[in-house]
Amino acid sequence: MTDTLFGKIIRREIPADIVYEDDDVLGFRDIAPQAPVHVLFIPKNQAIPTLDDLRPGDAELVGKLVLAAAEYARREGLAQKGYRVVMNCREDAGQTVFHLHLHLLAGARLGHFGAPR
Ligand code: AMP
Repeated sequence: MTDTLFGKIIRREIPADIVYEDDDVLGFRDIAPQAPVHVLFIPKNQAIPTLDDLRPGDAELVGKLVLAAAEYARREGLAQKGYRVVMNCREDAGQTVFHLHLHLLAGARLGHFGAPR
């Protein structure tokens, strides 16, 4: 497995506030939250660096990430008011950790996004 910060979190070598776990997916709070609720969902058993590295055989894995976020949002009572999921790919999107991850943002009315900086 390519090692990243998130690999260390999976192996419990560095601490994280883990809020979701199943056989395939780990969810933990972002250390620099961009919304009142900001949780990262990552694959536990594969370290795929970016969205661009996904192949057709990874479709189930990506589905599991999305379903984990939706399940967490329901469980935490966030689903009714709504939430956003984001996946950043490489530098123009500001990706900083090269282990595939999905951001779940919730808990406030979210601003517009996607404008060039
Ligand atoms: P991205 O910018 O899409 O690559 O997202 C990486 C995210 O990981 C950022 O939102 C960081 O705040 C977050 N992050 C970095 N280090 C940690 C950590 N040790 N624990 C939790 N989140 C982290």
